[in-house]
Formats: sequence, structure tokens, C-alpha cells
Amino acid sequence: MMIPPLFEARIRNTFAPEEAEEFLHSLGRVPAVSVRRHPVKGAGVFAGLPQVPWHPQGVYLPERPEFILDPALHAGAYYVQESSSMFLKKAMEKTELPAQAMVLDLCAAPGGKSTLLLSHLPPDALLVANEVIRTRIPALKENIQRWGDARAMVTNADPADFETLEEAFDCILVDAPCSGEGMFRKDSAAAGHWSPEALQTCGLRQERILKSAAGALKTGGYLIYSTCTFNPGENEAQVARLLREGFEYVPILDDPEWPEIARIPGGGYAFYPHRVQGEGFFLALLQKTGSSYGEAKETRLRKPYFEKTLKPDAGMDRWLEDPAAFARKERNGIAYIVPQALEKNMEWVASAVQVMYAGIAAGASKGGEFLPEHALALSTAAKADIPHIEFTEEEALRFLTKESNRSHDVPKGIYAVRHNGLNLGWVKAVPGRLNNLLPMEFRIRKNIDG
Ligand code: SAM
Repeated sequence: MMIPPLFEARIRNTFAPEEAEEFLHSLGRVPAVSVRRHPVKGAGVFAGLPQVPWHPQGVYLPERPEFILDPALHAGAYYVQESSSMFLKKAMEKTELPAQAMVLDLCAAPGGKSTLLLSHLPPDALLVANEVIRTRIPALKENIQRWGDARAMVTNADPADFETLEEAFDCILVDAPCSGEGMFRKDSAAAGHWSPEALQTCGLRQERILKSAAGALKTGGYLIYSTCTFNPGENEAQVARLLREGFEYVPILDDPEWPEIARIPGGGYAFYPHRVQGEGFFLALLQKTGSSYGEAKETRLRKPYFEKTLKPDAGMDRWLEDPAAFARKERNGIAYIVPQALEKNMEWVASAVQVMYAGIAAGASKGGEFLPEHALALSTAAKADIPHIEFTEEEALRFLTKESNRSHDVPKGIYAVRHNGLNLGWVKAVPGRLNNLLPMEFRIRKNIDG
């Protein structure tokens, strides 16, 4: 990887000579591999490995496995996430959120931080995972479905669209598109895209996104701003501006805690690759104290996301652990479950921005039979005690490539496919074979024999 000379010069100006050398040298090292386990589904995976200091479910792996060939990944038992970003959990610990908090992840794809947020929200909170670039929505939606938390919705909107939901959110994460200096060693293309002009463009884009976030945030609400760059023209400059414009800085760490995490004088925490076992990262927690920010936009009412409310049961209760917790909804012929407490807030969001997914897609009635959706199998709302077939690892991988050649000795009907007790999807047992109900977009697109 070629380090841009102007970047190198800045690093040499920022640190003492010896430390600058260590910093630049660390950019040539192989990045650490880490995963964050699902608090429920991940209990049995990657046990006994060294823990990421700031996240109890984060662990370092000795080397990079072929994740795509691990059924537990497809079951949503963990998310592959670089360790510095897991510091977001520490920021969440400093927020005081109401039980029905509205939380927005404004730049969410592919969903790493959204899935982390879901593990650290009050029980009746709603997470809106938004991504402006449409082509990045499918990956975000799949990752949200794999994580399996019914309290999430996926939206496809420009940050400015959220300004119509003036002061709606208790907490907004802006994990901003940035110059990516902290990713140079993981993604060599990032170094190739670096230029002083790109830094400026990133700063201006961040300013716009943060302005929209500020407008959609309640007074007293929390703004978490993070990047994977070291550039003070993005990180420090944005924090300084926010502090001038109605925000207060909220410290996250006590002073002696984790000295390897740098405290940035103007506010925020920086992760340098020569000091931590992780990639470059910056995060600042701020609280909105000013009451109004910018001009409210005219409210544009969209149609409700769900077309109708279904009557209780609607064929799906036998698949649910706690049917009473959910409202049953329908959209485009698919039945969804939505936590009772979140129904109204989900539609409130849908009145302002384009929704791509909400709650859990539960199933559809076909020919008098209720066929469950893939998302329900992966969801924590699915009943533990449902008819299921435990597959070996080899069978599980064949299922995940959508080959269905397994013989069986079960009565006909719908079964969850499990490996190591984790749901991977559904099969329909018909005489002589198991029909594989895995949706094409979830299949492994790789030859598993090669
Ligand atoms: N939070 C994600 C995660 O943890 O998996 C990573 C987000 S990535 C750093 C930044 C995201 O911002 C990208 O998905 C990118 O498409 C999106 N983005 C790009 N331009 C944007 C804009 N003008 N407004 C909002 N988001 C933008």
C-alpha cells in the first residue's frame, strides 16, 4: 500500500518522531480480525478467545477464517466487525434513553453499528437504520434480518428527509462517510482515493449530514458522530462546530481508563493503529442543548407502510415465542410482526421517509397454508420449540447454497433447519424430499467444494 505523502507529512507533524514512525509502521501490519457475537444467538460461538476490551461480546480471532463457510454467520450468531468501532457500546452506556426511545442510525449500511445498537437499547426502543445509497440497502436489510430483532426498520432516505421529523429522535448515530484514513491497511483502495480535495469534500458532506441529524434530534437528545479517519479537518472541525451550535460534549471514559485510546483535546476519542488492536476510528458523544436547529421543513405525508392490520393469530402464532407482544400487519401480501409498543412510531417514521423493511417478515398464506418467511427463522421472536431438523455442517452448507438433496424421515410439513441449535431457514418436507425455502439473496454464492 502506498501511503499518500501529504498524509504521512501530517502524521509526522502530529506525533513525536518516534511515535510517528510507529504509527506509519503499523499501517503495514496485518489488521486484527474480530467479531461481535449476538447476545442471544451467539452464546455458543467463538468461546474462550481474547475479548475486545470495550465490548463483552467482541472477541479477537487468531486468523481470518473463511466466514462465508460458517453456518453460524448465516444464522446471525455474530457480525464480523473491526474492534475499534465496538467502542460505540461505551458511548451508548453514557446515554440516558427513555423506554420507548427513537434511535436513528443515519448512515447505516451495511449495518455493523445498527446491529450493535440493537444490542444496547432499552427494551421498547425503535431503531431506524437508514442508508441513502439504494444499492447498499439489500446488504443492510439482510444484516438486519440476520440479527433478527423486531425493533428495527430499514429506510432509504437522504439525511435531509429526516428534518421533517423535527425533534423526533432521542439518539442519532452519524457514522459518517469519510476520507477513510483509518482503513488504509484494510482497504488499500482508501489510500488511492485520498487527496486534500477529497478531505474537504468529506468535511462539507459531513457538515450537511450533521445539520440534518441535529434538526431531527430532540432537545436533550444524543448525537454520536464517528468516522474511520484521523483527519482533524473532519473529526475535530465537526465537533468544534457542533459545540458552537447548541451541543455539549459528553465524556465517555474516566481518565485512567484505557490510556491506549487517545483523548482528543477538542472532544472525542481516537483509535490509532499503533496503540490499539484495531483500525483507525474516531467517536464523539454530544448532547443537544439548544432547542431549535435550522428551519423545520414542510411535512410531506407518505402513505402508511403497512396496508392492513391482521386479526390475532393470522396463522403465525404457532411460530412465535410470545405472540401477545406483537401486532400483525400486512404489506404486499406478506404478513409482518411488529412489537405492539412500536407500531405507532414505525408509521410516524414512514410518514416522512421511504421504508424498505420494518419489524419481522413473518410469512404469507399460500393455498390455505401459512408459509413462514426466512426472516422469521432468523428472528429472536421465533419460538424455540418449533418442528425442526438438525443438519450436519456439510448438510447446512449444502442447504445454504440452495442444494436440497437431503433425504428425510419426517412427516410432511414445514421445519426449521438448524445447525448447532441455530436456525438457518426453512424446508418443506414433501414425500421423498425436503424443499429448500432459502431465498436466493441469502444463499452462499460460492462453490463450497472448491
Ligand atoms: N455504519 C455502517 C456500519 O457500521 O456498517 C458504515 C457506514 S459508512 C462509514 C458510511 C455510509 O454513509 C455509507 O453506507 C454511505 O453509503 C453513506 N453515505 C454516503 N454519502 C452519504 C450522504 N451524503 N448522506 C448520508 N449517508 C451517506
